[in-house]
Amino acid sequence: MNILFVSPEVFPFAKTGGLADVAGALPEAIARKGHKASAILPYYQLVKKNGFKPAVFKKNISLRINNREELFNLLLLKHNGVDVYFIEKNEYYDREFLYGTPQADYQDNAFRFSFYAKAILASIPYIGKQDVLHCNDWQSGLVPLYIKTHHQNDAMFNKTKILFTIHNMVYQGLFVKDVVPYLDISWDLFTTSGVEFWDKLSFMKSGIVFSDAISTVSKGYSREILTPEFGCGLDGLLRVKEKNLYGIINGVDYSVWNPANDKFIAKKFDENDLSGKIECKKDLAKAFEIKYSAKRPIIAMITRLAEQKGIDLVVNIMKDILKDSDFVILGFGDEKYNNIFQGLAKEYKGKVGVSIKFDNALSHKIEAGADMFLMPSRYEPCGLNQMYSLKYATVPVVRAVGGMDDTIQNFNPATKKGNGFKFKDATNEAFLSAIKEAVAVFKNKRLWNTLLKNCVSCDYSWESSAEQYLKLYKNL
Ligand code: ADP
Repeated sequence: MNILFVSPEVFPFAKTGGLADVAGALPEAIARKGHKASAILPYYQLVKKNGFKPAVFKKNISLRINNREELFNLLLLKHNGVDVYFIEKNEYYDREFLYGTPQADYQDNAFRFSFYAKAILASIPYIGKQDVLHCNDWQSGLVPLYIKTHHQNDAMFNKTKILFTIHNMVYQGLFVKDVVPYLDISWDLFTTSGVEFWDKLSFMKSGIVFSDAISTVSKGYSREILTPEFGCGLDGLLRVKEKNLYGIINGVDYSVWNPANDKFIAKKFDENDLSGKIECKKDLAKAFEIKYSAKRPIIAMITRLAEQKGIDLVVNIMKDILKDSDFVILGFGDEKYNNIFQGLAKEYKGKVGVSIKFDNALSHKIEAGADMFLMPSRYEPCGLNQMYSLKYATVPVVRAVGGMDDTIQNFNPATKKGNGFKFKDATNEAFLSAIKEAVAVFKNKRLWNTLLKNCVSCDYSWESSAEQYLKLYKNL
C-alpha cells in the first residue's frame, strides 16, 4: 500500500508534543513492514533550525484558493525509509513557532492550514496516487473535506481512503465563520451536520465528518470521547460514528527512547543492569543545581505547560512533595505557568529545578536521571512520557485517564505486580497520596528494585500498533 501521513508536526523535523513522535515513528514502522510510507508537513523555520535541508522536489506548484492562484515549492528528504515532504510557503510557515506564540495562536491559522490541505492535494500528482491518507488532528481536518467535495471526480483520489486520527479533542481548530468563503468551503457545508460548531468553523469536525474512519490514540480515550466530559461538544457526532471509531495505542520508538543507546545521557544502562542510572541521577541533579542524595527521590515532569496537564495540582502540593523529595520540571507553554514555576525555583532553590524551554536533549537526561515521573493530566489521549519512563526505570505516577489508565497498572507491594502508581480523582489529596505511596516504596530498596524490574520489562514498541493500523488501512 501507499500511505501518506498528513501531520502538522513530525519528529525529528518539527515537534511541539506527542503527535510529532507518532508521526515520526509510525510511518517508519509501516515502511519496515514493506509498504510505501510518506509524510508531509509545512516547511517551518524550526525544520531549518533543527539542521535539516530537504531538496527541492518540485518548484512552483500552483493551486487555486479564493479565486487566486498561489504557488508553493514541494521539498523532499528521505529519512529512515520514509519520504518526508515539506510544503514551502514562507509567508505562512517561516515563523518562529508552529501554531502560535506563548501569548496567542497565530491569527491566520485558518489560512495557514487550509493552504496546507490544498497544497497536499496539489502535490499528490507529483508524489503519486495514495491508497490511504492518514490525517492527524485539526490542522489536517480540511484534507478530507476538499477531497470529498472539490476532488469528488478526480481520478487521482478515486481509490484513496481517509483515516482521521484524533490526538487531542480539545484543540479543534475553531475559527470565525467569516473565513468560510475565503477557504473555498461552500456555505452548504456550514451546517450542524457539516462543519459548523456553535456558529464557528471547526476543522476538527470537518475531519470527523468527511473521513472514512476515525481513530484515537488509546482504547480508553476512544471510549472517553463519547462522553460529554471528554467529547468537547463533539461526543454526539462521535456516538453517531461509533462503528467507525477505533482506539490504537501509540507505540514507543525504542531507537530514540532507550537508555541502552541514548546519546544524551551521562551513562548508558539497560534492563539487566540499572547501575548507570546513579550517574544519570547525579548528572540531572547537577544540571538543575539540586543537591544529589541517593536517599531522596528526584521527581520529574516534562510537559507542555497547559491546563490539560494538571499543572495546578502540582503547584498546589509542591510544599508537600518537597518534604521527602526534590522536583525538576522541563516545560514550555502558557506564560502563566512559565512564571509560576520560575517563582517556585527561586522560592525553593536547591530543591526545585525549573527549565522553561523546549529541549529534546534535556528531556532524555530527565527520563534517565529521575526516580519518578508525574503526569496528573485532566485528560490524556495516550501520553508518551509514562511509557518512555518505564523504559528508563523512572516510575510513573499518573492520573487514571485515557492512555495512561491503559498502560499503567498500580503497584501492589503484596503481590509485587504493577508498573507505577495511579490516582482517580483530580484532587490534591488523591495526587499527593499516590506520590506518598511511591515514596514509601522508594524507601524500601528491595521492593523498589522489584518495581523497577516490572517497569523496564514492559514493551510498548510500535510493532503491534503498526500492525493494527495496517489492518485498519486494509479494511478501509
Ligand atoms: P502531548 O502531545 O499532549 O504534549 P505526550 O505525552 O503525548 O503529550 O507527548 C509529549 C512529548 O513532547 C514527549 O515526547 C515529551 O518528551 C515532549 N515534550 C513536552 N514538553 C517538552 C519540552 N519542554 N522539552 C522537550 N520535550 C518536551
